[in-house]
Amino acid sequence: MSIVDFTKTPVAELYGSNCFSNAVMRERLPKNIYKEILAVQAGEKALTLGVAEVVAAAMRDWALAKGASHYTHWFHPLTGLTAEKHDSFIAPTSDGRVLMEFSGKELIKGEPDASSFPSGGLRATFEARGYTAWDVTSPAFLKQDQTGTTLCIPTAFISYYGQALDKKVPLLKSIDALSKQAIRVLRALGNETSKRVYSTVGPEQEYFLVDKEFYDARPDLILTGRTVFGSMPAKGQEMEDHYFGAIKERVAGFMRELNTELWKMGIAAKTQHNEVAPNQFEIAPVFTNTTAAVDANQLVMETIKSVARRHGMEGLLHEKPFAGVNGSGKHNNWSIATDDGINLFDPGENPESNARFLLFTAAVVEAVDRYALLIRASAATAANDHRLGANEAPPAIISIFFGGPLTEIFDNIAEGKNGAHTDTGTTIKLGVTSLPNLPKDVSDRNRTSPFAFTGNKFEFRMVGSSQSIATPNTYLNVAAAQVLSEFADKLEKASNKNETIQSIIKDSYFKHRRVVFNGNGYSDEWVREAERRGLPNVRNTVDALSVLARNEIITLFDTHKVFSKDEMESRYHIYLEKYAKQINIEAGVTIDMARRYIFPTVSAYAAGLARDAADLAAIHAVSAPQEKRAKRIADLASELYDETAKLETVLTDAQNIEDIFAQAKAYFEKVRPAMDAVRIRGDALEKLAAKEAWPFPGYEELLFKL
Ligand code: ADP
Ligand code: MG
Repeated sequence: MSIVDFTKTPVAELYGSNCFSNAVMRERLPKNIYKEILAVQAGEKALTLGVAEVVAAAMRDWALAKGASHYTHWFHPLTGLTAEKHDSFIAPTSDGRVLMEFSGKELIKGEPDASSFPSGGLRATFEARGYTAWDVTSPAFLKQDQTGTTLCIPTAFISYYGQALDKKVPLLKSIDALSKQAIRVLRALGNETSKRVYSTVGPEQEYFLVDKEFYDARPDLILTGRTVFGSMPAKGQEMEDHYFGAIKERVAGFMRELNTELWKMGIAAKTQHNEVAPNQFEIAPVFTNTTAAVDANQLVMETIKSVARRHGMEGLLHEKPFAGVNGSGKHNNWSIATDDGINLFDPGENPESNARFLLFTAAVVEAVDRYALLIRASAATAANDHRLGANEAPPAIISIFFGGPLTEIFDNIAEGKNGAHTDTGTTIKLGVTSLPNLPKDVSDRNRTSPFAFTGNKFEFRMVGSSQSIATPNTYLNVAAAQVLSEFADKLEKASNKNETIQSIIKDSYFKHRRVVFNGNGYSDEWVREAERRGLPNVRNTVDALSVLARNEIITLFDTHKVFSKDEMESRYHIYLEKYAKQINIEAGVTIDMARRYIFPTVSAYAAGLARDAADLAAIHAVSAPQEKRAKRIADLASELYDETAKLETVLTDAQNIEDIFAQAKAYFEKVRPAMDAVRIRGDALEKLAAKEAWPFPGYEELLFKL
């Protein structure tokens, strides 16, 4: 544990000390080289080897001075995690010494063996090589831990034939697509100054902390990240005393070190608080451009885990570690900004900026309605199935929260009542026609909307806590790019701009406003209402992912050059496979825990009770309550035994299915319910057996002891 004294090392000094940021590059690179890098970051130029040589040398000197011995191309394979292969800087000389070297070529390009990463059939085994290329839009950083200090270079990962094998390449391409179409719209609106547009993201990360001692005694937590058994304790979260409560000292110590580690890497950790469930917390950084935000979020997750361990705890990132207790998500705050600092979802001060705001916001409404299934699929994982559309809220329906005033404004436009005064204020002029005045502060207080407009950004709340946010943002960017391209087509041809702007907003909103919903998204009434509106409600991953195989979606990604048909197919395959593997592990752990831990201990306990009962009966000649208890436990244990055998049968059947879709379906339809059946018996036994006779720490230890 290393508690930094901020009086000796002020935060402002500490911040970014392990980040090769633009500030560091400005200081360490010749002026012309730094300018080149800025141009490469802005997408105006390609990186040349000459420039890379100079940057590599500066990066090496900086890293060595900070104690680094190794460097790695740090990338996002399709596992959803990050991967790294460390190389030391050493280059032996002929006379037995070493030089510390790092060339421009090594900076730009690495060649990890790709054969052990999922490729969904894209990479023939004879061509195992993969290539990594430096992503200049996300800064290099130093990772410090027990293994030492390593220079990490954020990288894109592609196959020998140029197909994306990671989550970064499509993300970068989606930002290009978004930029291209948004700039077309901006130009048509008369903006001549913005050169590039990019999405900005600030992800709020939820997680649980549990004491390491209890964690280590739970095979399910260790192997699957969630409890596959566990009965609810007498106290759950019904007291609502945890949310925003005072942070316990042990947790505060952890948070302090977490912040310190993140700040050093140049990650602007800003907000932290207790979440709704016991032992659940949240951390949110200040938003940045999306590539940096995606990388930072991977580091946030990794650092939560490593710092927790140093504090004798384990960080749980799983979406539903505890049944019956609130799950963890990741609120993906998403906006679109120009390189000259305009937030396109910022309601403006004047008619021009209002028109822009309404147009871009309408584009999001249309995109979210048209691509609801795709957006839903971006949050589809086995773990997130426990949150979305399960017994507990939120449902898996995609809808947008706008708040009363903004909805009224759009409704007025859709119904041709542009000039009308609204409750919220006067009208202002937009060229010849007029638009109502925009209220500044609309925010979603009930927090039940999966896609809420919160003042100057949209908050996509379906994303799971353990997911990489690369895919959700890739899909959002592409969906927005498509609608903006259609808006741009109309605007570029328009003879009367103002009328065209009006009619685009009017037609688009009229057609797609069914996706706007301001009420309680967790109510049963909404589920019925959404069905009436024809909004999809896809409750499981296997069905949700199938949208990726649709022709219109394949065409969408192909049109915007984000995924080829091959890449799309491979991803669909990989996600299904991942789903099947996850459930396969969980089922295996369930069988193991039932058979090797629960059954033997409770059987022995029941036998002990029966012996006691017999002894007592011999003495008192009456039947003792132990007998009833022994019988009840023995019955449940017998059911547990039978259900475990059934689970094993359906699991083996599922494992033998060749077709990946059919296999994933079997895991969903057959294996999951069979697991639940085992769990019900296990949880009932936990409630009946003596505490000492239960082989694992229970929810009371996991959730309330820290
Ligand atoms: P709340 O809990 O009310 O949703 P938080 O402060 O916890 O708010 O988180 C809001 C997140 O939204 C922060 O990460 C913040 O940086 C981010 N954010 C703010 N403005 C933007 C923007 N324009 N684009 C993307 N993210 C943004
Ligand atoms: Mg928050």
